[in-house]
Amino acid sequence: MGRDKAKYDLIVIGAGPSGMMAAGRAADLGARVLILEKKKQYGKKLLLTGGGRCNITNAEFGVRAFLEHFPESKKFLFSPFSKFSAKDTFAFFEKKGLPLVVEGRKRAFPETQRAEDVLQVMRKYINRNGVEIKTGVRAASLEAKDGKIVSVKTSKGDEYFAGNFVIATGGLAAPETGSTGDGFNMLEKLGHTIVPPTPNIVPLTTDAKWVHKLSGVTLSFMTIRFIQGGKAKIKKTGKILFTHFGVSGPLILNSAREVVKLLEKGAVTASIDMFPDTQENELDRRVLNLFDKNKNKLVRNVLPEILPDALSETILKLPDINLFDKEVNSVTKEERKKLVKKIKNLTFEITGTLGFDKAVIADGGVPPEEVNFKNMSSKLYPNLYLLGDILNINRPSGGFSLQLCWTTGWVAGTDVGEKCQGHPLAKQTLVLQ
Ligand SMILES: Cc1cc2nc3c(=O)[nH]c(=O)nc-3n(C[C@H](O)[C@H](O)[C@H](O)COP(=O)(O)OP(=O)(O)OC[C@H]3O[C@@H](n4cnc5c(N)ncnc54)[C@H](O)[C@@H]3O)c2cc1C
Repeated sequence: MGRDKAKYDLIVIGAGPSGMMAAGRAADLGARVLILEKKKQYGKKLLLTGGGRCNITNAEFGVRAFLEHFPESKKFLFSPFSKFSAKDTFAFFEKKGLPLVVEGRKRAFPETQRAEDVLQVMRKYINRNGVEIKTGVRAASLEAKDGKIVSVKTSKGDEYFAGNFVIATGGLAAPETGSTGDGFNMLEKLGHTIVPPTPNIVPLTTDAKWVHKLSGVTLSFMTIRFIQGGKAKIKKTGKILFTHFGVSGPLILNSAREVVKLLEKGAVTASIDMFPDTQENELDRRVLNLFDKNKNKLVRNVLPEILPDALSETILKLPDINLFDKEVNSVTKEERKKLVKKIKNLTFEITGTLGFDKAVIADGGVPPEEVNFKNMSSKLYPNLYLLGDILNINRPSGGFSLQLCWTTGWVAGTDVGEKCQGHPLAKQTLVLQ
């Protein structure tokens, strides 16, 4: 597409964090930019982030240290992250009047604790730089000619031309926010590989009723093992949250991807060890001591000295333990040993995940091998850029997903902006939304 025939230097499809960053940056450098967004209101997923507080990045400032959280794709990401890192995100938002604060696990949030303020900064960034945005418009296909993308057709049959295109339509997580996989379909038609999406950072489910009944209970230090074929395949230590459907909390969310892979091969049993630092015989001695001191009491009034109340009740009521109504002095040695074993090995079957609806991110998308990470362009079409959740890049929770958006958006926007610099029509201000 010749520049003269193109009304825009850049059309960005999708006004999520990565699309807004690319659009704002390219326009700031002088490009004429249009965003097409299918929802009437944009930034819906951004508003949900961090429970409405927006875990905007992770304050791991060394690029190499930051990329340790992207074990499979760090070699690809070094180039874009050396151009725009977590430190740059701090500077970007601070300069725009939204300072960030750091919490546990180096998670960074806006000082105001409001995702809405992050969206507001991005909204101003695109508006101030003259980006045109059409909401309620769904991009349906990209048209290619001579190895370049020339236009985008919408579901209503309109066609928009530009010199460059960004696909920032997100993955499949939380589809009600607008990310329903349209970008994957468009890219597949253009010849890109799409690794099939699976929910990634997502809670796990079980049918075990006793787990559901513990809903709201947190165990702050335990080890969970995921067992298949009698072997512990995954072992994690930390905090777990019981819910009305299964288990959740950062440790579980960040294990879900591996567990899903195990489930594809067969049944998975979770085993919780509530005293990971204490050997079974040592724990038995501790329980024996406790029982010796409280011989005439009910077991259910004694066990809470070492276990949370709700969990103690649940374990004592399990059919294979059945000590809820017993007095300590009537507990046999075998029963006590069985109880200790249960505290060290509380098992339940994992049935699956809560699916895309409740996933923070979904795996899958364009494999990194098909992307030129120097500028985030497609290796098949040099004027097509691929950002954020559209990429098959695995990462944990903790602000890493949004940082991937800020980085990829900035790098793509810079590339387009720099291509356009010097053009006589650059930096025309278009209609503002
Ligand atoms: C509940 C929840 C909480 C999260 N919390 C955090 C957090 O605290 N920290 C963190 O780092 N990450 C978090 N994430 C992940 C993070 O929100 C995503 O990684 C990020 O939003 C991805 O941004 P994106 O720009 O790639 O796409 P998205 O944010 O998914 O935006 C894509 C946009 O494209 C639009 N679109 C889709 N198809 C079309 C089409 N055909 N035409 C036009 N427009 C289209 C959509 O409507 C949408 O507006 C969370 C996710 C969820 C679901």
